[in-house]
Amino acid sequence: MSAMPPGNPASNPFVSSPTYLMACQQLRNVVRDAGLDQGVADRLMLPKRSQIVSVPVRMEDGHTEVFVGYRVQHSLTSGPSKGGLRYAKNVDLGEVAALAMWMSWKCGIMNLPYGGAKGGIAVDPAELRGGEKERLTRRFTDEIQNIIGPRIDVMAPDMGTDEQTMAWIYDTYSMKVGYACPEIVTGKPVELGGCVGRKEATGRGVVYCISEALAELKISPEHTTAVVQGFGNVGSVTCEELVKLKAKVIAIGDRYGSIRNDRGIDIAKLLDYQSKNERKTVVGFPEAEAIPDAELLATPCTVLIPAAMERVITAENAGKLRCRVLAEGANGPTDPEADAIIAHSDIFVIPDILCNAGGVTVSYFEWVQDLAQFMWDETRVNAELKKLMLDAFRRVRAEAKARKVTNRTAALSIGVRKVANEKSKRGLYP
Ligand code: NAD
Repeated sequence: MSAMPPGNPASNPFVSSPTYLMACQQLRNVVRDAGLDQGVADRLMLPKRSQIVSVPVRMEDGHTEVFVGYRVQHSLTSGPSKGGLRYAKNVDLGEVAALAMWMSWKCGIMNLPYGGAKGGIAVDPAELRGGEKERLTRRFTDEIQNIIGPRIDVMAPDMGTDEQTMAWIYDTYSMKVGYACPEIVTGKPVELGGCVGRKEATGRGVVYCISEALAELKISPEHTTAVVQGFGNVGSVTCEELVKLKAKVIAIGDRYGSIRNDRGIDIAKLLDYQSKNERKTVVGFPEAEAIPDAELLATPCTVLIPAAMERVITAENAGKLRCRVLAEGANGPTDPEADAIIAHSDIFVIPDILCNAGGVTVSYFEWVQDLAQFMWDETRVNAELKKLMLDAFRRVRAEAKARKVTNRTAALSIGVRKVANEKSKRGLYP
């Protein structure tokens, strides 16, 4: 079945992106298996609304540079749209549209009252100096002001953005509307109405899922080794949480290179080393040896955790994976060809839209607290997160077992069905 969305491909601005086609192909597979209404499926294939803006920024040396920014809202059926903002050199409209679509399914699995969205600016954040990142963020917020709002679309951090970025968006939006509006973003600093535990939520959720998978496979955490690609927010917290369970993290990679130590990498020391070097990299850590990047994902281990970027596991390297569990911290790390290969192996896959859903779940808690002006403590946040993650994990496993399908098909089916049902029940306007 073609992965192409409905309509003439020549006039579809998304289809030049392989990541968008990958998301469409996943949706087509679910539509076919679950027998969903074709009209609803076609509506879900194309995002509801996309905005492309130019973002002019005065650079530190005085010249003006213009960046391209995107905000894509895949669905507003279940509530406001929700999704991260990514700063990355090669981000494009199709990639953002795919990520927005995955957010819809993720919110569906977790039963959150949101549709999916995503944003991006084509910029390498590591190259920004002085106040450039702040000016870029504020101007972008201003440019998309007409399509965001606490009941319309709520942003959060993603690759290359963080709590400080969210604080600038919160401030810019509040200056425009004339009152403090913390519920316009999630993942902001706790002092500004952020939620305790939000920064750690995605990594924690990843590890709750890994623990459930290990229990099902009867592997004790003490006998677990892990390999992690990406040592940013998701990757580093995942490592810290794994170490708390007494698992050993034996190899880690980031955009600059990969390191390995079979005795287990001391994560606290590595975080300290990373924070003190200029590029904020794991490369050069004295208590590990350097390995080629191509070896990282093929390193024998119990759990492999891609926590960096999409489409890193492809038909080329899928057969070389030597893990028992593949826990997808990143969005879209495994492409459909690789998926088909892995489906014939004994690898237990925890698909991205389930595995990394802890972030949006605690973002939801943050939004609820900001709207109610009543803040929770971390014990409550973590307990509610664990409850929702384990419930989602068990529903996905029950669906996979009952229908004899992969965990990915089960997760996608649950997420897509929820959104499709709501669309059908609301009907088509006018
Ligand atoms: P981040 O910017 O904090 O960290 C990204 C990490 O990936 C860095 O260590 C970077 O060096 C590394 N990286 C970048 N390019 C790489 C490459 N080519 N090879 C190897 N490593 C590379 O980003 P993050 O917030 O940790 O997000 C990572 C992934 O998790 C993304 O796919 C994101 O969409 C997904 N995600 C994040 C959250 C969240 O709450 N932050 C929630 C759900 C999903």
